[in-house]
Amino acid sequence: MAAHLLIVEDEEKLARFVELELQHEGYEVSKAFDGREGLKMAIEGDYDLILLDIMLPGLNGLEVLRRLMQDKPTPTILLTARDAVMDKVSGLDGGAVDYITKPFAIEELLARIRVALKLHGKNSAGALNTNDTEQNSEGIYTWQKLRLDEKKREVTYDGHGITLTNREFLMLEMLLKNKDIVLSRDTLLEKVCGYDYVGETNMIDVYIRYLRSKIDDVYDVNMITTVRGVGYVIKSEQQ
Ligand code: CA
Repeated sequence: MAAHLLIVEDEEKLARFVELELQHEGYEVSKAFDGREGLKMAIEGDYDLILLDIMLPGLNGLEVLRRLMQDKPTPTILLTARDAVMDKVSGLDGGAVDYITKPFAIEELLARIRVALKLHGKNSAGALNTNDTEQNSEGIYTWQKLRLDEKKREVTYDGHGITLTNREFLMLEMLLKNKDIVLSRDTLLEKVCGYDYVGETNMIDVYIRYLRSKIDDVYDVNMITTVRGVGYVIKSEQQ
């Protein structure tokens, strides 16, 4: 069954554009144009994911989020204005699963939605971020001859130990846990540095370079794939 998404966004053109893109991806979509209507629909309806603008008439997005988490917790991605760091922090503290900064590339929003549904959705059979899915029951993630042991915090390639810094390890772990899902720089940054980290997202590119120099270059493989304008992914099948 298609996931049902609710868009709460007062910019009707933007809401309509996102709706069309989402419908094109096969999602079922509903819209609300102000905070009160959005909250009412979110509580009365049954949505898999909510896209919630922060700057809304009636009731602002953070207040909608607060009441929603109280009355009917539903995975929510916030749409925030550029540089509204405090809103992002309050939103994530308030229970949002992710945020995206306007203006955004639709591909990035779609990638965030796929990740959010996979990690938090009702039918998230592949909830890879937890430790209790089939192959991950022992906290071991693999890609070809690479093996990451979450409990021992150990990475090997064909039996050879690879020394990684804490952040390199976290980033590799995140990519391996979400194989075949493109993770945006913002998502990686949040997982690796914490969501309140205020800095450049190109920091992620630097860590990717370190990982490639320690793994891809040494073992002559193409483990980490760059998806231009979106982020990074480790694919199950080597391309
Ligand atoms: Ca708005």
